Amino acid sequence: MAELILAIEDEEPVREAIVAALEADGFRVITAADGAEGLERLRGERPDLVVLDLMLPKIDGMDVCAQIREHSEVPIVMLTGLDEEDDRVKGLMRGADDYITKPFRARELSARVRAVLRRSTHWSSDDRELLELGDLQVRPAARSASMAGRELNLTPKEFDLLEYFIRNAGNVVERGRLLDRVWGEDEYIDPRTLDVHIRWLREKIEDDPSDPKWLLTVRGKGYKLVKP
Ligand code: CA
Repeated sequence: MAELILAIEDEEPVREAIVAALEADGFRVITAADGAEGLERLRGERPDLVVLDLMLPKIDGMDVCAQIREHSEVPIVMLTGLDEEDDRVKGLMRGADDYITKPFRARELSARVRAVLRRSTHWSSDDRELLELGDLQVRPAARSASMAGRELNLTPKEFDLLEYFIRNAGNVVERGRLLDRVWGEDEYIDPRTLDVHIRWLREKIEDDPSDPKWLLTVRGKGYKLVKP
């Protein structure tokens, strides 16, 4: 599957330019309009690389970068309006893997992203990772999941859904976000497909799929995975 890039940028035209540039080069792209949303999407969706604007409202880009580095080695490419000759840039870029100066050309951005991805190793390569919620265990590298020690034998889409849910355990996951994350942002699917996969997943993880205790429906919003 194509690498997933998270672009954190508050200015919509720039955000759209980033998405267009990276998608044209075959990447999947998700976006956030401020640092808080960016940190949330990073935690929930584990992109392969983050394109991070330096000048953001609320939490600025450097603080976002520092917060990411507290728990993640995900590669970060900073976007800056500052000139690279500027001495401040080096200090500001601590923690980032590379930076690119605005305005940038589409090909320059995707080339830089590709180069950083090529030379980085990061969390998605962690094959020992184990996600746990009560009796539910998910091993992303092996793409396997078990309930109270019993292997669940999930299909690829069921696994993608469950991995996403357990990474966002306790939080409401919106339907639109599930469709984006599991089926891709530009691939049109019938929203009822999601209902069908949720039903199948419940048949595997719930004692009584008609009365779910793990995967709850949040009316009008989406779903929430909880420990019963
Ligand atoms: Ca900005």
